[in-house]
Amino acid sequence: MYAEVLIEYSSKSIDKTFTYIIPSHLKEDIKVGMKVLVPFGPKTINGFVTNIKDNINEDYELKEIVDIVDKYFCLNKELMELGAYLQSKTLCTKITAYQTMLPSSLKVKEQKSNYSKYLTYIKLNKSRETIEDYISKYPRRTKQIEILNTLLENTRVLKSALSSPALNALLEEDLITIELEQIYRLNNKGIEEEKVTFTKDQQNALDNINLNEENTYLIHGVTGSGKTEVYIELIKRVVKEDKTAILLVPEISLTTQIVNKFYNHFGNDVAIFHSGLSAGEKYDEYLKILREEVHIVVGTRSAIFTPLKNLGIIIIDEEHSETFKQDSNPRYHVLDMAEFRKHYNHIPLILGSATPSLETMARALKGVYKYIEMPNRVGKSILPTIQIVDMAEEMKRYNTIFSEPLKSKLKDRLQKQEQSILLLNRRGYSTIITCKSCGFTYKCPHCDIALTYHKSSGNLRCHYCGYAIFKGEVCPECHEKALTDYGLGTEKLELEIKKLLPSARVIRMDADTTRNKGAHEDIINKFKNHEYDILLGTQMISKGLNFPLVTLVGVINADATLNIPDFRSGERTFALLSQVAGRAGRSILPGEVIIQTFNPDNFTLKCVKNNDYMKFYNYEMTNRHKLDYPPYYYLTSIKTSSKDYDAASKEISKVKKYLEKNLDKSTIILGPTTASMFKINNVYRFQIILKYKRDPNLFKTLKELDELFMLNNKVNIEIDNNPLSL
Ligand code: ADP
Ligand code: ZN
Repeated sequence: MYAEVLIEYSSKSIDKTFTYIIPSHLKEDIKVGMKVLVPFGPKTINGFVTNIKDNINEDYELKEIVDIVDKYFCLNKELMELGAYLQSKTLCTKITAYQTMLPSSLKVKEQKSNYSKYLTYIKLNKSRETIEDYISKYPRRTKQIEILNTLLENTRVLKSALSSPALNALLEEDLITIELEQIYRLNNKGIEEEKVTFTKDQQNALDNINLNEENTYLIHGVTGSGKTEVYIELIKRVVKEDKTAILLVPEISLTTQIVNKFYNHFGNDVAIFHSGLSAGEKYDEYLKILREEVHIVVGTRSAIFTPLKNLGIIIIDEEHSETFKQDSNPRYHVLDMAEFRKHYNHIPLILGSATPSLETMARALKGVYKYIEMPNRVGKSILPTIQIVDMAEEMKRYNTIFSEPLKSKLKDRLQKQEQSILLLNRRGYSTIITCKSCGFTYKCPHCDIALTYHKSSGNLRCHYCGYAIFKGEVCPECHEKALTDYGLGTEKLELEIKKLLPSARVIRMDADTTRNKGAHEDIINKFKNHEYDILLGTQMISKGLNFPLVTLVGVINADATLNIPDFRSGERTFALLSQVAGRAGRSILPGEVIIQTFNPDNFTLKCVKNNDYMKFYNYEMTNRHKLDYPPYYYLTSIKTSSKDYDAASKEISKVKKYLEKNLDKSTIILGPTTASMFKINNVYRFQIILKYKRDPNLFKTLKELDELFMLNNKVNIEIDNNPLSL
């Protein structure tokens, strides 16, 4: 018998399978999807078995597979096919596709390391008589006797509880033995939750979802309409049939609350999966799934690849979130992967959002997705009132950061012992440092971007490549003491709010304060327990969090996202502001929202204020139609990149010629231009944008193009189908 093995090799040009002989002692165990050890050149390396066959027509000499890496681990048929689909969608290499689907502890390049965690127990290895004989024979070995007596009373005892010199002696005499028990790092019992009586909206959603048919549904439910309870009920029904479920959430910061809710409802029937887990924890959670010990997986993007068998439902919460698309190779969108698994298993796929992406809404309105609306909040809670504040007017009163209404409402909440949330979508202290005397600004020497000042460390940092330098007292150019900072980051906002309200207890959540493991959870729990009055942070705080005491949400600078030059900035702003506004007034206390802006007449902001998704949708769709953007046209971006400016620039022109020759005439080819992040980490990037409705030549051409660059060591090509930003 022979096996085709896909090997891990850094070069794209070797992304193919090689045939090996299966030695007779492995014939019984070997399966497609397993990792094996094979000789390759002078080395022994890892690979995936992609096919097993009885005969071959190669006539050169074949080598034998050395060993199976892990007998218990195997990508099943569904995941093997999903990998192939991932590859075809993103044009990545086959091996990258399979690697992407695995947690790091199981990726093929890893040496055989053991991630399993054990408890070590000691137990008797001889009969009671033998032990009693020993005790009477050596009455002076008190330490040993103590241990033996303990073991006579208990079947086994944790090794750590016993004294070690005496243990070693007993082990040498073979009177006792060691027993290992594998344990999982994460174990949760949860607490019993009261069963809710479903609202009319919830009941309607449940009645309209058919669990036995393959369909995609959009649940368009306002913030606080109780979508989570609908997900839980659907999963309960699926699990009752002994089928399994995946729930995807957009960010780690969101998993805490939702996972706790799931533990409460499903106990240990849940595995969790996100980048905040350690490699060991992920390994354990993956094992629980492989061993079919859990029915439910809750996690971020990569959880779509977990090997649940007999899948019964997939739910994507906050489906509009951009985190569902991977922004590095392979650039897949989780929705495509979910659609694949939906179809493979003939099951429902549920997309939930208060602010669906335009693409999703368009499909729902066309009837491609089944549309379910949940327009009302649960119980007595009502949507918050939203006030837009013109910061140009406020500036006249020297209110640069906090407007009058925001100030007074923050004070009011503090007095009433209610909580507030402040959103500022920019971390660091200030956004730019310039010299008032000569005009010098600090820029990253490796990237085309200004450095951000972080006051706590005294550093100026590049948010793209991580470059950092210490900020001096004087301007490095003219040596005047004239450095001033402009722009506002979360770090500075924290200091400013403490100045404004010295008695307020303030906590900040952004990429800088959540670097450590468990930091998200810690901040969320402390705020929930009312150890703090004000939570401030970046978009991390905007989604899904549920704090009953929050009655005020302030958006410090709505223009930050609005003014980004990208065709999706309106959609992004609408979603972000609606989401963060939705954090206010989620229980009986009514909520208020203040949005500060220099564009008070902006149409998107007005739609946010009136909580009018459909009005925004129609307006934005008109714009997209005029400009040939999605969902009217598909987009693909093609970038060339190199440390050599000229080389990258020359290649992009060649790419353009190639595309013009090979693509359908209806496809619009824009560019080449410099990419929006033109220089990052000393790498220059140029791009071409394709717009098309249907182009039968597209994938073939892109694949050829990709292959043409395989042997180019100087210039890289990067193809992104359906990029989220340009
Ligand atoms: P969404 O995800 O739509 O923003 P959630 O699912 O977080 O909303 O629900 C908002 C709040 O309402 C939560 O505290 C939840 O426990 C509560 N809730 C949901 N459904 C019900 C119900 N039928 N009866 C009472 N409370 C409910
Ligand atoms: Zn940089």
